[in-house]
Amino acid sequence: MTQSTEAAGVATPDRDDAVIEAKDIVAGYLPGVNILDGCSLVAYPGEMIGIIGPNGAGKSTLLKAMFGLVRVHSGQVTLNGNDITNLKANRLVEMGVGFVPQTNNVFPTLTIEENLRMGLYMRPKKLTERLAAMWDLFPVLHDRRNQRAGALSGGERQSLAMARALMMEPSVLLLDEPSAGLSPVRQDETFLRTRHINKTGVCVVMVEQNARRCLQICDRGYVLDQGKDAYTGTGRELAKDPKVIALYLGTLAEDVNKERDDQGAAHEGTA
Ligand code: ADP
Ligand code: MG
Repeated sequence: MTQSTEAAGVATPDRDDAVIEAKDIVAGYLPGVNILDGCSLVAYPGEMIGIIGPNGAGKSTLLKAMFGLVRVHSGQVTLNGNDITNLKANRLVEMGVGFVPQTNNVFPTLTIEENLRMGLYMRPKKLTERLAAMWDLFPVLHDRRNQRAGALSGGERQSLAMARALMMEPSVLLLDEPSAGLSPVRQDETFLRTRHINKTGVCVVMVEQNARRCLQICDRGYVLDQGKDAYTGTGRELAKDPKVIALYLGTLAEDVNKERDDQGAAHEGTA
């Protein structure tokens, strides 16, 4: 694990094949109040990247800045080497970037199938093929395709939100706390499904409150603190780094151990 400013020079000296990259982003919601204060992140082909850090660190703001939803004042966002800084979200969707916000990510009064159709409004010819792919990936959505999204459980709703983003076959998927509010078993399903989607060739950048599990499953992670990427490294490096543990994982350790016990119990229960 390295301080990320060093890592940019040390760990990745010659790579120019970034899929998506944020370089020294300064951004915020109000004039004169910068929430991101020189924040950088890069994802290479095939990678699954985790972003962790305390509440209010700017994790959601970073995803929104990359997706054109928060104005970037300085710095640059690139997609496959092309500048996409401050492009509108609908343009980014066309270019292959998908974003699943943490909340309000489905249309509750529309059915599941209607939600998915909305996800592909720009490419109606591919509808049948993409719908079939989503029913494969999320069988539970197929079973309930004619029900309103508002009737879904938290986990099903997250699945639908992810499926909706996947309708456009993005090359990059930005996920904001996909496991938030789910039971430990559903959380783990979400992690494993996300990894599966990643393995099909989609680059994933995921903000997560379940920091330990996130670092276990991601290729690399970033710890955000006060609008900056404070640390970066492989998930394993970060998870065992004393500074990261003390600052960001220590207080979580007990909860996570308990969660793991609960999961064990739940799996035993269903076995
Ligand atoms: P995180 O996702 O790491 O918990 P956020 O990116 O949501 O943090 O928020 C970072 C900071 O930006 C917080 O201080 C928060 O209050 C502020 N903030 C978030 N959204 C808005 C908004 N829409 N308007 C003004 N300030 C915001
Ligand atoms: Mg957030």
